[in-house]
Amino acid sequence: MNRRDFLRMGAASLLGLMVGSREIMRVEAAAYYEPMIYKWFFQFTEYEPRKATEFLVIHHTGFPGKDKDSTAADIHKFHQETNKWAGIGYHYLIRKNGMIEQSRRPDMVGAHAQGHNKTSIGICLAGNFNLGKPTDAQMDSVKELCRWFCQKYHLNPREKGAIVGHRNLNDTDCQGKHLYKRLPEIRQFCCES
Ligand SMILES: [Zn+2]
Repeated sequence: MNRRDFLRMGAASLLGLMVGSREIMRVEAAAYYEPMIYKWFFQFTEYEPRKATEFLVIHHTGFPGKDKDSTAADIHKFHQETNKWAGIGYHYLIRKNGMIEQSRRPDMVGAHAQGHNKTSIGICLAGNFNLGKPTDAQMDSVKELCRWFCQKYHLNPREKGAIVGHRNLNDTDCQGKHLYKRLPEIRQFCCES
């Protein structure tokens, strides 16, 4: 084999490798899907577009003294009327029955983790997880949602800081001890699937 043939063969096998890896990526991507999301169009007093999505922040509603369900509409009303915010701070709320409610447009800056809102998405599970435990349906939904966002925003769940709890960012006990200890399970699901 002369030098030119050798180089040509090398180029061909390199091309084969590239096609091969693209094929694998395509097959893996096809395994993901957007979970069922109920999208609300609440009125906000202002919107600020978010330019980057670098990580996902998990919260609980943390109603004082009670592990109770809440709707996105409940929280929207509370954040507007009591907190005097533009509207609900979280982008997503996950009800106790596992229903995922999109509450703030995901391409807008949220109000859920001070100092980190411009680069993150806020996902809140309804309940007080210092008192109670997240339901299986909530865990299934948060895993599906995080996996979808890891794909959509090209986040690597293995990387430190890609999926975090609110307490990792601010001085708070949010998202409650019973949900906080399940963060590794959420990350693991996003890695395996
Ligand atoms: Zn929080």
